[in-house]
Amino acid sequence: MTAHSLSLEHLERIAACRAIVAAKGASSPYVADCVVRAYQGRHIADLCHDAGVSCDEATVITIAAGIGTLRLAWTGNHFESRTCVEVPSNAGTATTDTLPMPLSASPAVRQERTSICTQCNHLVSDRCSVAGCACAGLGQPANRFSRCPIGKW
Ligand code: SF4
Repeated sequence: MTAHSLSLEHLERIAACRAIVAAKGASSPYVADCVVRAYQGRHIADLCHDAGVSCDEATVITIAAGIGTLRLAWTGNHFESRTCVEVPSNAGTATTDTLPMPLSASPAVRQERTSICTQCNHLVSDRCSVAGCACAGLGQPANRFSRCPIGKW
């Protein structure tokens, strides 16, 4: 396993979070939150490419952000939400105000992805059976930065 951390220089290269870097600076915790949201449902190779980091099948990148910690590895991602952990068990149902929500895909993108999924053998009970844990953000047509785990969209 090769553990990598992203430097400020790497963060500045990530186009999806460039506006936040420009507004708050690369060291702002909002930038880490943005990177987590943007890459939660994407493969580690995408982040390596966008940040200018070389990586291979042994690379692991961990991003500790305000909303939680994202661990990206070649075989899948794991996100541990800080907000989820801190919600007390007697607090009732968490609302969208307390949980970090992924950015939505446009209606056209969502429709195109959903149409592909509905014709796919891996869709079981309206869920992708390949995507694994929902925390990884894969196989979710409505999530802007999600992707199909086998590359159909
Ligand atoms: S995300 Fe991909 S593998 Fe999963 S159901 Fe949709 S098309 Fe099939």
